[in-house]
Amino acid sequence: MKAFDQPYVVETPFIYDYSLEQLQDWMKEQDEPTFRAGQLFDWLYVKRVSSFEEMSNLPKPLRDKLTSSFQFITLSEITRFESKDGTVKFLFGLHDNHAIETVIMRHNYGNSVCVTTQVGCRIGCTFCASTLGGLKRNLTSGEIVAQVVKAQQMLDPEDQRVSSIVIMGSGEPFENYEATMAFLRLMIHPKGLNIGQRHITVSTSGIVPSMYKFTDENTQINLAISIHAPNDELRSKLMPVNRRYRFQEVIDACRNYIAKTGRRITFEYALIGGTNDRPEHAQELAEVLQGMLCHVNLIPVNHVPERKYVRTPREDIFEFQRILEKNGINATIRREQGHDIAAACGQLRAKHMELT
Ligand code: SF4
Repeated sequence: MKAFDQPYVVETPFIYDYSLEQLQDWMKEQDEPTFRAGQLFDWLYVKRVSSFEEMSNLPKPLRDKLTSSFQFITLSEITRFESKDGTVKFLFGLHDNHAIETVIMRHNYGNSVCVTTQVGCRIGCTFCASTLGGLKRNLTSGEIVAQVVKAQQMLDPEDQRVSSIVIMGSGEPFENYEATMAFLRLMIHPKGLNIGQRHITVSTSGIVPSMYKFTDENTQINLAISIHAPNDELRSKLMPVNRRYRFQEVIDACRNYIAKTGRRITFEYALIGGTNDRPEHAQELAEVLQGMLCHVNLIPVNHVPERKYVRTPREDIFEFQRILEKNGINATIRREQGHDIAAACGQLRAKHMELT
């Protein structure tokens, strides 16, 4: 598998693709004072307006120049579904007619946004709807940023803020590494949305070289690994990426991350009825993870009509958790949110693709 970290190039760049430093450089090139970049940044991330025209403290000629140099609207809302539990799922249209999903989850500790990093996905996990049409393209960092800005704009009238971000929507963020890192830098910027690093989680299917690279970034951002099996053979059946980056290589990269950062790692484990959810799988997983600073998040798999997987019975889910905990591995069961609105990643987009 070749690395897929090609930037997506657009003719007129998106304003949200730019860091504060890049905006300062742009202002210099235009013979504008650099403090204008700070004002622009403030309009984008603090006041969160929807056009350059509204940036009233920027001179009109500069606003015109911005309008002709950048695209402002990067996402258009195609539809939104609101769950009884408060979860909101957006289907956004991109300028090239692709569609992506973004989810806002309401917790008693704050609002979390789940963002998408690619249109589709080529990783091919057998339990996932996002991968059904393959990978269409990478998102730019600005297209990822715009999802959070849109979510925040939805929350603004309630005087609430996005307090955490999970990069767990469609796509493999570590195959769009540079855009994902640029997005993260914008999210944690103190003059921007200023989201605490510890409130952000990046989830990967185990792209080993990027895991090492991410470790060396030395951030406080959380790392989650989609492990989904306790051994090489079963993982290869569920996740074809495992044939490229083998189970043990992924575990070694996790150990390196923990040793270098001192941070706990999360393992995501989708429980699939009769496939990877038996007591012996729990026991084997516990042995693999022995001694690691980690946490296992058990996810009862959502029913994806295109796949034949069945759901793990409730009692078996608890039994799996009990076996892990008995062996000293911290494990939780993910609370289901938005079950009534097709919450599994890619389901909404898949439906949209069928209709268009
Ligand atoms: S689970 Fe994630 S990595 Fe796997 S196919 Fe779906 S979107 Fe891609």
